[in-house]
Amino acid sequence: MQKNVLDAGVFVEGRVATGVTTPGVAREARLPPEGLPGVEIMAPGGRWLEKARATAQKTGDLDVLSPADLEVVALALEIGGIVVTSDFAVQNVARAAGLEVEPLGKSIRKGIEWAWYCPACGRTTPRGGRKGECGVCGTEMKRRPRKGK
Ligand SMILES: [Zn+2]
Repeated sequence: MQKNVLDAGVFVEGRVATGVTTPGVAREARLPPEGLPGVEIMAPGGRWLEKARATAQKTGDLDVLSPADLEVVALALEIGGIVVTSDFAVQNVARAAGLEVEPLGKSIRKGIEWAWYCPACGRTTPRGGRKGECGVCGTEMKRRPRKGK
């Protein structure tokens, strides 16, 4: 049976859930280090963290994900688990990585690919990309879903 991999929102919202979660989530949600009844804490391996990070970079979500969020995606990849989350960025990256997602609350229907753009001069990044200053005019870049294909 696939295990649920729980993100911090599950605990913050006081949901009752069982499964596994990561040390980063445990810190963020102030769980006891030994976990909770029915909730085991596992650290994902480095290569899975790399894979989660690469996927987030590709979808353009890397800058809005916390280290704990990346651990959740990485752990789900490692153990073949189902990501349980209320966070849109986590849902988006998990789906892009080919994972099953159990959304809490509202869910996004399909994957979003973000593009960063400059609100001042209109420069855009081709796909994915990082936040930061516009290379042309130095204004802080913003992001929006990339249009069309
Ligand atoms: Zn600009």
